[in-house]
Amino acid sequence: MNNIAGRASVFVFLLVFSLFSAVGKIDAVCDDSACGNIANRCKQLNCVLNQLGNFRKDLTSRGMDNQTFDLMEFEHDWEPMMRYDFKDSNCTLIGIVDVTDSPAGNTDRSCVTKLKSKTPCMQESVKRHEAQHEATCRSVYKAKPWCANVFGYAGCETWAEYVQDEQTAYGIELSFLKSEMSALKAKKQCTCVQCEPPYYLYGKTGCAPAPASKGPAELIRKMVDYFASPLKDDSRPAGK
Ligand SMILES: [Zn+2]
Repeated sequence: MNNIAGRASVFVFLLVFSLFSAVGKIDAVCDDSACGNIANRCKQLNCVLNQLGNFRKDLTSRGMDNQTFDLMEFEHDWEPMMRYDFKDSNCTLIGIVDVTDSPAGNTDRSCVTKLKSKTPCMQESVKRHEAQHEATCRSVYKAKPWCANVFGYAGCETWAEYVQDEQTAYGIELSFLKSEMSALKAKKQCTCVQCEPPYYLYGKTGCAPAPASKGPAELIRKMVDYFASPLKDDSRPAGK
């Protein structure tokens, strides 16, 4: 009887211990030092998702949805166009000094994933992104082995499937970072960081609104502000 009770208590202890370590793991990926990176990545992710949405509409209007995806065409034609839009929509990083880690990842045609990042939080974010591609890659190999062996997994997808996979992958990153952010905020950390505009700088000195973008839209806004509020300048104290 004692033996059984002893075993049972060991079992309960192990169960509680593993539950606690599981919970610990969930909110231990991103810590206080990741606040700036989370803000940056969230901005990037929202921008990319927006661009991918537009790209998707463009594909549909060109009747390309169900055509076979062509990586060469994507890289040489579509991607630079997207990057251009990207620049234009002020989707660049908000420039956090010291803490910027811009993660990158790649899943090759054989479903092998490589990650590049400097911090555990961004590493985890991009790891989840690539896990989506890896799963897609494996399912394409399973469904169309001959095609995938010859053309790689992306070469056996349609344009719509390829873009959808990216949308899903970026969406996974965004929800991961949002949940990490909530966990940090619950611990009174990353208080000003948010995953939607307006974005804030989060540096050693605390939180501040991200600097105004320098794109054409911003220039127009400044001009409108300037001409619309001449009284602002007149109200300066004399002598200044
Ligand atoms: Zn991707």
